[in-house]
Amino acid sequence: MDFSPTELTPAELELQAEVRDFLDAELPRGSYEPALGMGAPNDKEFSKKMAAKGWLGMALPKQYGGHDRSAVDRFIVVEELLRSGAPIGYHWVADRQTGSVINRFGTEEQRERFLPMICRGEIGFSIGMSEPDSGSDLASVSMRAERGANGWIMNGSKIWTSSAHENDFFVCLCRTSPIEDGNKHQGLSQMLVDLKSPGLEINGIPFLDGSPGFNEVVMTDVFVPDELVLGEVGMGWAQNTSELAYERGGPDRWLSTFGVLEQFLAMHEGTQLGDRAVEMLGGSIARYWGLRNLSLTVARMIDQGGAPSVESALVKEMGTRFEQDTLLKLTELVDLEPSPESASMFERMFTAATLTGPSFTIRGGTIEILRSVAAKGLRA
Ligand SMILES: Cc1cc2nc3c(=O)[nH]c(=O)nc-3n(C[C@H](O)[C@H](O)[C@H](O)COP(=O)(O)OP(=O)(O)OC[C@H]3O[C@@H](n4cnc5c(N)ncnc54)[C@H](O)[C@@H]3O)c2cc1C
Repeated sequence: MDFSPTELTPAELELQAEVRDFLDAELPRGSYEPALGMGAPNDKEFSKKMAAKGWLGMALPKQYGGHDRSAVDRFIVVEELLRSGAPIGYHWVADRQTGSVINRFGTEEQRERFLPMICRGEIGFSIGMSEPDSGSDLASVSMRAERGANGWIMNGSKIWTSSAHENDFFVCLCRTSPIEDGNKHQGLSQMLVDLKSPGLEINGIPFLDGSPGFNEVVMTDVFVPDELVLGEVGMGWAQNTSELAYERGGPDRWLSTFGVLEQFLAMHEGTQLGDRAVEMLGGSIARYWGLRNLSLTVARMIDQGGAPSVESALVKEMGTRFEQDTLLKLTELVDLEPSPESASMFERMFTAATLTGPSFTIRGGTIEILRSVAAKGLRA
């Protein structure tokens, strides 16, 4: 494991200033309800504006509409977006992981078809991994794809599919051949599935705070043409593992409650905070800064050709615990009943965070699974 300290270069600081200026102009403080990190609403117009600035598909090749930029540059853009609670929902998954996975494993035809749309902010992807009986033990998925004429016939259900009701496609992990010799990791494949396909039904599952977002996706004889098989048939496990690596270690894993903390400070601007509040804020900010630098190191390592999966798992483990602890400390400090209809923006954000906070250490791999990834990696 290697967490060598790193700092932003002058050119990177310039990019950071540019993103801050853009956000000040597009989303002046007080003119919108900041979202809680990556659980932000979809706003296709905002996604297109991001694309016009060249801030979508930043690390994808220029020939497909990308910008050949670094992981650190993307880190800088994403950190500012999440800190300001920007409406990033529509492009989030495509920009964070699907584009890179298609670029790495897809056919030339798939790259030409999907990557320019991702870079223009014109297509939204969901993640089709979890199933009612397969979450942490993902290799046990039972979504079946059987050979048909010029394609595959898919049957089964996915669950917790974030934003499937608003997105266009999802990358669906499925079983294309039966388990042999007890090896669950073989015989899996990934399909690019149109969420409007005949036979595909999307049933909403409201979140604890009542908001839509979660879905069950039921597929009955859904036809997926051969040209939408992602990568090699039977290599789905290896591809999926590599996709998961893009999901961990970034600012989305430690910034979900930052806005609530910031609102708390805004609410108390010009007033003298008590000792408990000062102690709590000092502790949180010190922890935040440490995590931020660990996460930045992960991006720097990627740019240097590393594969920091253990470091990413640790950042997610520590980052999501930090998000929840921050909320817990605020709860002790403010002693208020959560109320989604409150006139105070702080109270509305606090309520939303209280109701969605438990999910932070579950989504993208639970805390126990991350500890296990880190432990195995450190032992190896
Ligand atoms: C907000 C949110 C958004 C999500 N969005 C998506 C999405 O878009 N697409 C998608 O596919 N999925 C999504 N998920 C699902 C998420 O990835 C799964 O919930 C997660 O992987 C855990 O799986 P599970 O819910 O089946 O829990 P389980 O795997 O049943 O785990 C239950 C408990 O057992 C523990 N456990 C399980 N196995 C082990 C083990 N080997 N060692 C130690 N402890 C273990 C877990 O840590 C957990 O505490 C989302 C989840 C949330 C909360």
